[in-house]
Amino acid sequence: MAENKEKTLGQQLKDELLYKTKNTYNELSEEDLDAAYDYAEGYKKYLDAGKTERECVTASIAMLEADGFVPYTFGMQVEAGGKYYYNNRGRSLSAFVLGTESLENGVYFTASHIDSPRIDLKAHPLYEAEGLGYLKTHYYGGIKKYQWTAIPLALHGAITKADGETVNIVIGEDDSDPVFYIDDLLPHLAGDQMKRSLADGISGEQLNLLSGSRPFEKNLPEGVKLNIMKLLNDKYGIVESDFMSAEISAVPAFKARDIGLDRSLIGSYGHDDRVCAYPSLTALMAVKNPVHTTMAVLADKEEIGSEGNAGMQSIVYFDIIADLAKTLGVSDIVVRANSKCLSSDVNAAFDPNFPEVNERRNACFVNNGVVLTKYTGARGKSGSNDASAEFTGWVRNMLDKAGVIWQTSELGKVDQGGGGTVAKYIAKMNVDVIDLGVPVISMHAPYEVVSKTDVYMTHKAIEAFFKA
Ligand code: MN
Ligand code: MN
Repeated sequence: MAENKEKTLGQQLKDELLYKTKNTYNELSEEDLDAAYDYAEGYKKYLDAGKTERECVTASIAMLEADGFVPYTFGMQVEAGGKYYYNNRGRSLSAFVLGTESLENGVYFTASHIDSPRIDLKAHPLYEAEGLGYLKTHYYGGIKKYQWTAIPLALHGAITKADGETVNIVIGEDDSDPVFYIDDLLPHLAGDQMKRSLADGISGEQLNLLSGSRPFEKNLPEGVKLNIMKLLNDKYGIVESDFMSAEISAVPAFKARDIGLDRSLIGSYGHDDRVCAYPSLTALMAVKNPVHTTMAVLADKEEIGSEGNAGMQSIVYFDIIADLAKTLGVSDIVVRANSKCLSSDVNAAFDPNFPEVNERRNACFVNNGVVLTKYTGARGKSGSNDASAEFTGWVRNMLDKAGVIWQTSELGKVDQGGGGTVAKYIAKMNVDVIDLGVPVISMHAPYEVVSKTDVYMTHKAIEAFFKA
């Protein structure tokens, strides 16, 4: 029989007074782990269905409608328990469930973004050089340009023709589709290039998409360019000038896949920030008849500063709340003052290959659960929301009560760099807000990595928030 040793006073005090990090694989039951891996299957499908904000809106509406959500229009009558979504120009989405309590008690909402870094086509993209056809691009969001060369790329987007008709295009996702490609230099001739910094190795104007090499007919000047245009015309009925009224993006043609022999991780384009958008939707649907009004906002344009009428700085998100308040005869000022928000975005996971950019005690780790980020910003917290002690305390209490495994993090060590989220734009509307999301490895790369248990903990965290 094993001896049941009493803990020393020091050991007892350590348990009582000192913080211990938690790991999902130590804390969760086998059932929870199975649930996390099952949950990842749905998430991977969502990733493959939505590689642009437009496609994400479409995929999200399909999920919501299957669950009984109906379109919301300004001024419409609403009822407690009713499930609604507002589609903002096909590029951002607000889905909500009206609570059983008065709206004046506040809206509990998440805000995540469904745009991701990518390579957009210019207004006059198509040209031919030395018998090769290319498309000129202008990158979108923060990318390391060299990462986007020499990989298969797919084109996604929408083109509005001169007659006003809009056609959607997807080329490169079906296994039988052709893909596009950005050239890089062979190492043999890259002596000069390799001496430049990573930032300068590939320039913005070198991000040209290789798109063809076969001319339309023999000895025709610019025959390759014409042939590419003819193929697009045959398939989509477009002419060259239609590129001027188009939103077409090159995105990695990779599918979401399990990473690692144990299948514990997910590799994909665009985890940032669909890895928070998807749990926001699943949590919204999981909580039936919430007490507070619950809402999941999926915004566009976060990667370029939350600008535009679909970015988080747009008034539309708070117009919806104001409109509901008006319909229900309450003050939208009071509604906002009592509202709570999880700005649901990713953070940078501690990467053992690059330990020098983080301060270990204040970094987030893969498989340590959903990450709470009190402040982001750069230098002296510049551009940060910096959530209050009180609201941070409310959130941690809510997470602990629900048995959610969570951790806290900064974005890198002090003065290493920095970044921001939509949190500050929401805070400005007199709402309590904090960042909460998933640790990501290789954030903003064409293929990013997250952990299945962290994604599942994010779903559980948002579910607990919507139930609070
Ligand atoms: Mn993000
Ligand atoms: Mn980002």
